[in-house]
Amino acid sequence: MKITPNGAAGGEVTGSCYLIETDQARVVVDCGMFQGSRGADDLNRRPPIDDVNAIDAVVITHAHLDHTGRIPVLVKAGYEGPIFATSATLDLMMIILEDSARIQVSDNERTNRKRRRAGEDPLEPLYDEDDVTPVRGLTREIRVGSPIDVAPGIVAKFFEAGHMLGSTSIEFTITENGKTKTVVFSGDLGPADRPVLKDFAHVPNADLVFMESTYGDRNHRPYEKTVEEFEAIVRKVHAAKGKILVPTFAVGRSQ
Ligand SMILES: [Zn+2]
Repeated sequence: MKITPNGAAGGEVTGSCYLIETDQARVVVDCGMFQGSRGADDLNRRPPIDDVNAIDAVVITHAHLDHTGRIPVLVKAGYEGPIFATSATLDLMMIILEDSARIQVSDNERTNRKRRRAGEDPLEPLYDEDDVTPVRGLTREIRVGSPIDVAPGIVAKFFEAGHMLGSTSIEFTITENGKTKTVVFSGDLGPADRPVLKDFAHVPNADLVFMESTYGDRNHRPYEKTVEEFEAIVRKVHAAKGKILVPTFAVGRSQ
């Protein structure tokens, strides 16, 4: 068995994508977009996996763009296999990818205006809405807690990750040459004790764990401190008879 990180590693925190290879199967876990870094555009344009026709399945932990944003790139390159995730993840993923396609097109128009002024050839957008439409036909809904064969010798079982609607950690039971190993991908986890989301489940055992750690060694302040700050703003604005605008621009943030 060989597992290769193809993003969210080596200095990048976005672009989560792993390739699991055995002598009988190849499975991609998440296929996220690189976001924010200077080289992100070039990284996104590179096909996440060289030979998409050799991939048996794509399995998704949750819908956020940094875990799903390069799926249309795979499909555009010819991938026609299944994409497994919870029904909520698949529904949200389609909305996020359609939105991403519109952003790709408008960003690309801006880039091309600059390129034209510099006398350079125009670029194609990474993908557009027509590239996203066929993704829906490949989606396969799974149930949390029910093991499912995703490829020869590879069984996936999904656990609640408490991160956003539909989010999961995934345990893979991988059999190769008569030996079986358990490999867990945490996906993004938590935060715990939130009013809308369930808390993340504990995966009982693993031979190997791939742990997402977006914030590295940074500690967040306690949730109560955030509530205190929010209350203070409401009191101040109320006293001043003002108005409060609450921007909820990112999926999951509005919770
Ligand atoms: Zn996330």
